[in-house]
Amino acid sequence: MAWKVDYKCQQVFRIAVLIQLVALALSNEKEHQNEFLCRRCGETIANHQQLSHYTSPLAVDTWNATLLGVPRVNVQLFENPQKQRFNVVTFTTANIHAHEEAYSEASWYPGNAWRICTCPQCKTHLGWKFQPVNFNHVTHSEEDTFVGIILDRLIEEKQGDSILYVPNSYKS
Ligand SMILES: [Zn+2]
Repeated sequence: MAWKVDYKCQQVFRIAVLIQLVALALSNEKEHQNEFLCRRCGETIANHQQLSHYTSPLAVDTWNATLLGVPRVNVQLFENPQKQRFNVVTFTTANIHAHEEAYSEASWYPGNAWRICTCPQCKTHLGWKFQPVNFNHVTHSEEDTFVGIILDRLIEEKQGDSILYVPNSYKS
């Protein structure tokens, strides 16, 4: 029966090697991810592929910055009627919770209504989802919408690593 034990040992060894290779591949991939996390809780909010420029004529100021390793990303400064100011970066979509109610008053994007967006994990207000004023799922699709996120409420993953970062796998 000895050969059977050897065979089992070999199988276990092979599986162990395979697991190590997969773990190595995953950790390498993680290093090369360019993602924004919620500054408060570390939830993944958006990646560099979701960055997209939506220029508003109502921005108080606008400039370019290198974000997530992407050069010349457009940042816009907006002011709301309460005189609060926000540095906003726009994305096609993001991992955010958009609240139901849409408002067209005081919109920074004429023709678009806005919905409050919060972090799906810690509920911090992160920004706004913009959609055509007459948006409905019959005549429009999600491609007609975009999100503006407050830059100061995000943190790049590489910075997050050294400050406070709880990997998703450790969260309940
Ligand atoms: Zn959060």
